[in-house]
Amino acid sequence: MAIINVHDKQFETYLSDEVIGQRIRELAAAINSDYAGRRPLFIAILNGSFMFASDLFKHLDIEAELCFIKLASYKGMKSSGNVVTSIGLEDDLFDKEVIIVEDIVDTGKTLHNFLPKLQHQQPKSMKIATLLHKKEATAYPLTLDYVGFEIPDKFVVGYGLDYDGLGRNLKEIYQLV
Ligand code: 5GP
Repeated sequence: MAIINVHDKQFETYLSDEVIGQRIRELAAAINSDYAGRRPLFIAILNGSFMFASDLFKHLDIEAELCFIKLASYKGMKSSGNVVTSIGLEDDLFDKEVIIVEDIVDTGKTLHNFLPKLQHQQPKSMKIATLLHKKEATAYPLTLDYVGFEIPDKFVVGYGLDYDGLGRNLKEIYQLV
């Protein structure tokens, strides 16, 4: 098992790039089948979801649109969850089939606070795809439609996720030792 350092902390390999890739192909297959003949708009939440969104999107064979938005930032190792606003959402969501793409759902506060703002625009449907879900930590009611991996309540980095700005470029996902 590989041990790496990011800033002052040690992390060990948790999910390999093969395992992540395989699971993303399964999620894409499910979306291809669920959305056959429809044209979903994927709204990926920056920064953490950029790799997941990119790999998921490559495996879609349906017509689909993609945009990236930014919400409140996440600092250090505890979720702030104080989402106020989003930047970059230019599409009008009225009557659209929206799929939110998240890197990780922890307490659920971010999405729980943000989804009503999107619902306000009256999309035809709205689903959530998240690569990681810390089920034990989730305290806000949220329906997750596509989940890559249920993971324990431990801090992770890699594959788009950072620890204070670093670690996003790692191909694998690492867990705090
Ligand atoms: P929530 O609002 O669900 O508590 O937190 C969601 C956000 O917190 C995620 O989009 C992510 O930015 C951040 N987050 C939660 N857990 C982790 C983690 O283990 N590692 C990293 N890098 N970010 C996390």
